[in-house]
Amino acid sequence: MANIQALRGTKDIYAPEIAYWQMVEAVVRDCLGRATYQEIRTPIFEQTDLFQRGIGEATDVVSKEMYSFTDRGDRSLTLRPEGTAGAVRAYIERKLFAQGGVQRLWYTGPMFRYERPQAGRQRQFHQVGVEVLGTNDARADVEVIAIATQILGTLGLKNLSLQLNSVGNKEDRQRYRDALVEYLTPFKADLDKDSQDRLDRNPLRILDSKDKKTQVIAKDAPSILDYLSESSKAHFDKVQASLANLGIDYQLNPCLVRGLDYYTHTAFEIQSNDLGAQATVCGGGRYDGLVSELGGPETAAVGWAIGLERLVILLQQLAETPTQSLDFYVVSRGDAAEASSGVLAHKLRLAGFSVELDLSGSAFGKQFKRADRSGAIACLVLGDDEAANDQVQLKWLQTKEQLTLAQSELLDKSGFWKTQILWNTPKQQA
Ligand code: ATP
Ligand code: MG
Repeated sequence: MANIQALRGTKDIYAPEIAYWQMVEAVVRDCLGRATYQEIRTPIFEQTDLFQRGIGEATDVVSKEMYSFTDRGDRSLTLRPEGTAGAVRAYIERKLFAQGGVQRLWYTGPMFRYERPQAGRQRQFHQVGVEVLGTNDARADVEVIAIATQILGTLGLKNLSLQLNSVGNKEDRQRYRDALVEYLTPFKADLDKDSQDRLDRNPLRILDSKDKKTQVIAKDAPSILDYLSESSKAHFDKVQASLANLGIDYQLNPCLVRGLDYYTHTAFEIQSNDLGAQATVCGGGRYDGLVSELGGPETAAVGWAIGLERLVILLQQLAETPTQSLDFYVVSRGDAAEASSGVLAHKLRLAGFSVELDLSGSAFGKQFKRADRSGAIACLVLGDDEAANDQVQLKWLQTKEQLTLAQSELLDKSGFWKTQILWNTPKQQA
């Protein structure tokens, strides 16, 4: 039988690449923790209906990209294509709004979309996202944008651009929609096929069509910024002024729109100039109408999602693989020494050291070679003599300096040996 392979558009993530993922996850956890965001973990599958209502039938995600199936109880279920719908469902179902005030949530995990796989675009991919629920204050819009730039900046990413727009409130958008349809209708025959379909269903989406000819037509379309009411304009002015105060650069992009009624006011994307076609690493905005659309109380909200695959691609271009530090590599030969080395490795780990134990049983020479390649700071050697006397030989791998000591010496003075390890760590590694 042919070997079974991973599905198209899915990936196994393992060493050395996994180190980048762990680095991203650590930075995300740290930045969001310090900003008092609470992690929420929602199920990977939900009722199909949640996504149909929460993302909207007229979107590509719902109309073409969902992994939906009927389970054995004849229910229609869907693997989540994004994280907001599940988080908002939980917010409503668990009555998080009843706690009053603002809820700051974040999530991370795999998402599923039936797409054409290519670099930075997969069928199972990963996002981290935030949702701030319960305030329409422009400072929340700015807070989430600032945190996104903080995460990307902490990771060392450069060449990013923040694209910013406002889609106003429901009424602003309705007036704009009419003007847009009026402008586009004479060009209908020249639009790409998808955009022709969208002219009735979801005309705002035509503005971010990837088709060259449509883009030329869209370039001269009326700008939504000319259709904002006074209060929408005031909100957007506040967002822009606060971003300027924080020294966060942005470009106004009136083509950055979302087609659905519950998206309101601020819309933004962070793009990388180093990513080729799949340039957007972060997309977000305000969605004051979504919670009520899904059956909850009127609740203003704003959030974003970052695509982790694209971040990892950027990091791989930028930085050496982060290495895990290793204190000791333990080699041993002979029954007594092998037994003793297992106990020593375990006790050293309990004492707070990182330890790799050579299990090969091969000649000392071969084990020493592996010790050199392991990146450990020191090698611990046990032969018959050491095992018989509860001793160990310690060899600093950088200086090749070697000493014999009692095992208890190593275990009882762990603080002293941790300092020694630091002293013997090559500069670029420390
Ligand atoms: P795109 O225009 O690239 O299809 P999108 O508008 O569908 O993006 P969102 O739903 O806003 O994307 O998701 C937020 C982020 O998640 C994107 O900016 C991107 O970084 C990432 N993302 C979305 N779909 C995929 C995918 N299929 N594979 C990898 N990352 C993805
Ligand atoms: Mg997409």
